[in-house]
Amino acid sequence: MAFQSPKGTFDWLPPRSERALRVREAVSAPARRAGYGYIETPTFEDTALFARGVGESTDIVSKEMYTFDDKGGRSITLRPEGTAPVVRAVLQHGLHNGRLPVKLWYSGNNFRYERAQRGRYRHFSQVGIEALGADDPVLDAEVILLAAEGYAALGLTGVTLLLNTLGCKECRPAYRAALQGFLAGLDLDEPTRRRAEINPLRVLDDRRPELQARLAAAPLVTDHLCEACKAYHEEVRSLLSAMGVAYTDDPRLVRGLDYYMRTTFEFVHDGLGSQSAVGGGGRYDGLSEMIGGPPLPGVGWAIGVDRTVLAMEAEGLFGEEDPAGGVPVQVYGVPLGEEARRRMFRLLAEIRAAGLVADMAFGGKGLKGAMKGADRSGARFALILGERDLAAQAVQVKDLTTAEQTEVPLAQVVHVLKGKIQ
Ligand code: ATP
Ligand code: MG
Repeated sequence: MAFQSPKGTFDWLPPRSERALRVREAVSAPARRAGYGYIETPTFEDTALFARGVGESTDIVSKEMYTFDDKGGRSITLRPEGTAPVVRAVLQHGLHNGRLPVKLWYSGNNFRYERAQRGRYRHFSQVGIEALGADDPVLDAEVILLAAEGYAALGLTGVTLLLNTLGCKECRPAYRAALQGFLAGLDLDEPTRRRAEINPLRVLDDRRPELQARLAAAPLVTDHLCEACKAYHEEVRSLLSAMGVAYTDDPRLVRGLDYYMRTTFEFVHDGLGSQSAVGGGGRYDGLSEMIGGPPLPGVGWAIGVDRTVLAMEAEGLFGEEDPAGGVPVQVYGVPLGEEARRRMFRLLAEIRAAGLVADMAFGGKGLKGAMKGADRSGARFALILGERDLAAQAVQVKDLTTAEQTEVPLAQVVHVLKGKIQ
């Protein structure tokens, strides 16, 4: 074999690829109904946007970015996440000077140089939403509700919402200091000790069980919240409860990105092993300023399309009755001879224009080979067109489930098929 897809990447092939489309559609639909507009940003940005907007102390910036100099000597980075580019675009085009909040959704690929494994790829795709310019717990609750609705629309039942707050500019410094004090008393390896200095909250995110055990007694952010953050969080929680959105309070939940504050959440699925996060997000009120903009609060999430498909597969949501194999072919043309091929080509266009899904045998196959193609296509009807049929301006319509065959005038075949299929 000449080439393989690069390590950590894979190809979405039909029929499975249809599942990714279905996830994108289902998780974006609730947001579109809530007034979120579609945005597409470039696949690459200035490296500095991510360095500043995601944060130097994050895994993403410190080890996962695909960064290179372009031929003009600019440092370019392939998009590792979608929020910083969206905020960059909002600021660049002044969208925040119009009606607030600015509500946007996106769908696209991300690139992270990660340890490749099931559910963790170097090229993966996300659907995300961002709402900017409003500091309102109702908006946090809306954003979370929209994700929950997306998962529910897909039929997923094993998704759990983990909820936390990270405090704000007022109360986080005191918590940070308390946590740092606690961490200073632990015997940490060098990288973790450095992380504890730069961004101690991220140490809570460490996956190593032996470290997690030692963190059991760490101070919790929820014990250090200011009154405003407490009230804000209570409001988000009660709005979610009122909507019947179940959540688990997780006072240790922090996120990989530096710019989160207050509401923070993650959706995890119980069927995915260690790559359990199917989506996550939160409030990032400091991000705009960090990338040179005015104060502009924001809240949003990103859902991992690849992992959501894996979660649906773990729940067996793609059954036989749902072949997910592209759009199933309904009518299959079997032309016999040159002239019949030309006529079938035109007939197929008419059938498709009438809303039916049609395909045909290509490559001048004989009757036997073409009928095999008809069977493989899964079509209900084969249209057999030979020289004699052409002369009679008719076509043989064969019902492949009953093998019953009838002759239908060419001028009526679209109408007849519509009648039989719908
Ligand atoms: P994790 O903790 O699993 O590394 P993360 O916190 O880095 O996730 P986010 O940056 O919040 O993830 O991205 C949101 C979602 O995108 C995740 O919940 C996950 O579903 C998906 N995702 C993130 N990284 C990857 C990856 N390398 N491969 C596949 N999906 C990913
Ligand atoms: Mg990660």
